[in-house]
Amino acid sequence: MDKYTLLPEQLLYEGTITEDNFFAPQPLAEEAILRTHTPEYWEKLKTNSLSVKEARAIGFPMREALISRGRVIAQGTLDCARLALNGAGVALNIAGGTHHSFADRGEGFCVFNDIAIAANELLFTGEIQKVMVIDLDVHQGNGTAHIFANEPRVFTLSFHGAKNYPNRKPPSDLDVGFPDGTTDKDYLETLYKMLPDLLDAELPDLVFFLSGVDILASDKLGRLAVSLAGCRERDRFVFQCCKDRGLPVAVCMGGGYSERLATIIEAHANTFRMADAVFY
Ligand SMILES: [Zn+2]
Repeated sequence: MDKYTLLPEQLLYEGTITEDNFFAPQPLAEEAILRTHTPEYWEKLKTNSLSVKEARAIGFPMREALISRGRVIAQGTLDCARLALNGAGVALNIAGGTHHSFADRGEGFCVFNDIAIAANELLFTGEIQKVMVIDLDVHQGNGTAHIFANEPRVFTLSFHGAKNYPNRKPPSDLDVGFPDGTTDKDYLETLYKMLPDLLDAELPDLVFFLSGVDILASDKLGRLAVSLAGCRERDRFVFQCCKDRGLPVAVCMGGGYSERLATIIEAHANTFRMADAVFY
């Protein structure tokens, strides 16, 4: 079993959520894909005609099932955003956070950029005027940064391991690259110092929070050394800052590659627990 099965099971078991908290997204509409991705890239995905090089950059061979899965996940992020905006305050996608996908290509296991797609769709329909992306996955949000490089309505913030993938990091509106081995104290102090002022300055209509748990010391890919408790405190602080300002939050899980699956589940479950504790 993988984390996408175990995480909801754990949350149901402990009572953090109930069956009626679930929503089941439909596949994302083509128009919404095309507000973020180029027609050429979408055509290649649809017709399964990515070059070997393009497929290798994504990291897995493309199959129709993976495209369908990506469309459902991206719609899930859009649904979360609408739920958060329309009264829930916070909504969480059990997957998503595919921030290495660019307008015209995928990479790093990311086919569609779900947060960019959701943000562009809501800006297009006029449901929101201003967005902030708080990307705290250990990997820099290169695709998101690039897509929104010239979009003043979207503020992109990325906290990441300075030496983690990707090597080339297109600038976000604000990038914070942490040295290898960064622990709770430095990580959290930076967050405490920066986030409240940023939110006050930007006052977005909606926040996307990419809550990757690959910042953990136990993570096989991440180069930082944050503890489980530190990671949970990160999530609590982000939620509290947004709640205090009346900002709705849509959350995408992002990466998590600790050796023990139980650690990954615990860290992702903490994100749901903190959302519950702060918002309800
Ligand atoms: Zn990651």
